[in-house]
Amino acid sequence: MLVTPAHFVPLHAPQPGAQEHIFVFRGGALLVRDADLGLPDAEACAALGIALDDARAVGMLGKHYCRAAWVAADAQVAEGFAFRPLRSLFGAVDTHLLAVAGRAFQIAEWARTHRFCGACGGAMEALAGERCMRCTRCGHAAYPRISPAMMVLVRKGDAILLARNVAAPNGRFSALAGFLEAGESVEDAVHREVFEEVGLRVRDLRYFGSQSWPFPHSLMIAFTAEWESGEIACDTSEIAEAHWFGPGDTLPEFATGVSISGELIRANLPGRTG
Ligand SMILES: [Zn+2]
Repeated sequence: MLVTPAHFVPLHAPQPGAQEHIFVFRGGALLVRDADLGLPDAEACAALGIALDDARAVGMLGKHYCRAAWVAADAQVAEGFAFRPLRSLFGAVDTHLLAVAGRAFQIAEWARTHRFCGACGGAMEALAGERCMRCTRCGHAAYPRISPAMMVLVRKGDAILLARNVAAPNGRFSALAGFLEAGESVEDAVHREVFEEVGLRVRDLRYFGSQSWPFPHSLMIAFTAEWESGEIACDTSEIAEAHWFGPGDTLPEFATGVSISGELIRANLPGRTG
């Protein structure tokens, strides 16, 4: 799973003089060396014309001070470096570093999109000591945006429900998932989404775990739930197909690797009682 290691320490202030990891983003893509997917140092950033004046403190990963910066969408880099989508680095870069890169992206993206106040258009400034941008004119404060979403694996006896979303980029099956509406509890969202997407009622929600998912700023909160009533009726605008998979059934291809979706399914394979 994409999880920052326990020894990572978030920071709001620069740490001059420390060894560094510099995460430079162009949109959702991270600047890395072609040769070894390593990060650029300050000298390399200077040579590439990347200003670090507005870089944001992210934290300490071991002895390395991590900071985040961004460049314009049309910025080009010299030979030897490339901007690589974060997802394309799964499995190719150390997972601890990649998890911190996910944090760095969210901080850089928040800073990039909050240079001006959403209420009055005034200039925003970073406050010392907390992750906050405040308007110099009206005082409006903005914090990094985090969008909670629920994921739920529905069980019926020995079987589990897997669904294929119409928008799934790779056609894989997964547990059901959806974003919270304003004013909902996570549990409200589980009941609503399960009913909307597949027409089922569920009970006995059990918390499984959560994961930051920096695409661009989700927090996935995962549960299991027991089927209570109803027959599968897919909302075809969202769900292409959904089926019960019991012991002995061949499971469809589902997410593996770094996402909590795969962990949730692997921990609740058909026939296992939780
Ligand atoms: Zn303002």
